[in-house]
Amino acid sequence: TWGRVCNELLKTVGKSNYTTWIAPLRMIDMAEGIAAFEAPTKFMRDWVSRNFGEAILRELRNDGHVVERIEFRVPELRPIPANEVSRPVAAPAPAAPKARSDEDLPGAPLDARFTFDSFVVGKPNELAHAAARRVAEGGPVTFNPLFLYGGVGLGKTHLMHAIAHELQIRRPEARVRYLSAEQFMYRFVQALRERQIMDFKEMFRSVDVLMVDDVQFIAGKDSTQEEFFHTFNALVDQGKQIIISADRAPGEIKDLEERIKSRLQCGLVVDLHPTDYELRLGILQTKTEAYRAQYPGLTMADGVLEFLAHRITTNVRVLEGALTRLFAFASLVGKEISLDLAQECLTDILRASDRKVTIEEIQRKVAEHYNVRLSDMIGPKRVRTIARPRQVAMYLSKQLTTRSLPEIGRRFGGRDHTTIMHGIRKIEELMGSDRQIAEDIDLLRRLLES
Ligand code: ADP
Ligand code: MG
Repeated sequence: TWGRVCNELLKTVGKSNYTTWIAPLRMIDMAEGIAAFEAPTKFMRDWVSRNFGEAILRELRNDGHVVERIEFRVPELRPIPANEVSRPVAAPAPAAPKARSDEDLPGAPLDARFTFDSFVVGKPNELAHAAARRVAEGGPVTFNPLFLYGGVGLGKTHLMHAIAHELQIRRPEARVRYLSAEQFMYRFVQALRERQIMDFKEMFRSVDVLMVDDVQFIAGKDSTQEEFFHTFNALVDQGKQIIISADRAPGEIKDLEERIKSRLQCGLVVDLHPTDYELRLGILQTKTEAYRAQYPGLTMADGVLEFLAHRITTNVRVLEGALTRLFAFASLVGKEISLDLAQECLTDILRASDRKVTIEEIQRKVAEHYNVRLSDMIGPKRVRTIARPRQVAMYLSKQLTTRSLPEIGRRFGGRDHTTIMHGIRKIEELMGSDRQIAEDIDLLRRLLES
């Protein structure tokens, strides 16, 4: 019933208010004439109660509930799992039904915002970006398939849509189809059920460029995999371009058939590394530019973007969500975007990012990974086989925690902050030239962040 009330509220308060204020609410109780809701932060609680309390009460009553008053609560201080953080911000309004004409094409709609222009390039994603650009520029099929992989929210879908947009401009006659692996499966199952498998095959085999997002989804789904394999081969045989994404490298997708894995590896496999501080800051700056146009008159204090880039390291989606909320708050309360305001209205997101790995955990995982003793992480040994892992741990400590260099130094057996700095620089340098180190770090990072 709250869902129904939400639909009504969406109409009365408008989409942007709804997304910012109503969607993050959770109904926790409704008894004895009191409807209780949970808001993610105190700030949101006060704001919603003051500005939307009446509307919510009215809609609840319209929906036939006997409600005397509403209560808003804020959750107890407890860490929120990182994967839930984006929920309050990103909760989408109910989607409009898809147009019928779209149904005949095996594709999903593209997000108009996901273009190459809006993609910020930094060290962690420059290879993936360059490969995507190359494929989008067409010409002889060079990398087939192009396989993009990386963690959640690092820009895989964005890049795929960007390729599709670019192809539509450069080769308007080409039939470019983008869809998620889940949609692929859904269509396949539907075709089976409706005995239209020949149509299905024909449809997919007649495209010029096929993009399948999040292919890990079909792992373990045997008949879908089988069909995917045949589609894949048929297209490659015809010299058609295929672009695939997944959350990990082909070889690491569990329950994916070997022959598919090896097929996926035939082309170019590139990964999107977790963002670094510079990239996050670059993304924030770019998005802020766009917001400035949207909210003229809003000012932002120095250091806010730096603060966010430093504190929100999980993924770009969360980062964007934070910025969106920040601008919405500031414009509603008519205040400058200051550090205080950011801290106040992003408590939940910041708190979740705080639920971070500790330096001890990092040292333990790194030691395990390189098969060295934990005590060597903080000990004095200087042989390369121990010093290198130690530097990796220093690097990760800087990246994944909010500890300062002197603090990190203290936890590495009382080393000086310049030693830590040197270690971090060394790793940064190696990451550019030594593929193994880059992969090790990527892996460790995923392990630690999951
Ligand atoms: P993935 O598919 O890897 O989970 P998405 O492509 O959906 O991630 O990206 C999540 C959000 O972050 C999107 O809104 C996207 O526009 C944004 N994003 C990710 N990387 C970048 C980038 N380098 N520049 C600009 N926006 C980015
Ligand atoms: Mg995606």
